[in-house]
Amino acid sequence: MRSTADGIVIWEVRTGEADRVITLLTPSGLVTAYARGSLKPGGRLTGSTAMLSYSNFELSSGKSMYTVTDATSQNRFLKIYSQADKYALAVYFCELMKYLAPTEEDSSEFLSLLMNCLFLLDGDLKPSWQVKSVFELRSMSLAGYMPDVGGCSVCGKEDSAGAVFFDPLEAVWVCSDCLREAGRIANYPFSVIAAVRHTVYSELKKAFSFTLSDESRKELVRLSEEYVLAHLERKPKTLDFYNMIR
Ligand SMILES: [Zn+2]
Repeated sequence: MRSTADGIVIWEVRTGEADRVITLLTPSGLVTAYARGSLKPGGRLTGSTAMLSYSNFELSSGKSMYTVTDATSQNRFLKIYSQADKYALAVYFCELMKYLAPTEEDSSEFLSLLMNCLFLLDGDLKPSWQVKSVFELRSMSLAGYMPDVGGCSVCGKEDSAGAVFFDPLEAVWVCSDCLREAGRIANYPFSVIAAVRHTVYSELKKAFSFTLSDESRKELVRLSEEYVLAHLERKPKTLDFYNMIR
């Protein structure tokens, strides 16, 4: 049976001399497809089935997976390709999608999140640290791990006079007034909790519009990364690589 789908290539495994098996993120879930001859220089499928290519795919279903019969590239995010740190970050986003996005279920919000983040990186419209933290927190939220950052988990207050405690595994926070009662030691400035709240509770297009001091920025980067690692069953190899070359 033949079908068509718009989607982005989020993973590739090279097989044989010139073929690859690719994973696509489409609005209706992850799809695995065989792309014959797609590693041939100048081949018909070479660009449109490469990592980060957003293409219209023509697929035919086989016994175990689809085969790409044709693909027309619509966006390849080529500026990301030319910067090693951005490319490493984009591949990390893709690895997270591979673990978090569903198969054969509505994935349109995962796809919008990934496409938005790639547009921002490609156009240099937002700094990488911010795109990374928003991507991490929102992708985990979409996958069912939204942190409860509304009010303090002890008194319910939405504000805090001083530094707070955030527990990545429990996904809750404790305000400065309740630290002693909760037997906790502050580990983040409150501004970071406010940024997480904005990031996960706003609409996608507003999620990137917050500012932080240099110090709080580092703390948000630490929090969002710890958050991913606390809930994901494995450590993404691409994250180590990104942190190494950054
Ligand atoms: Zn409190």
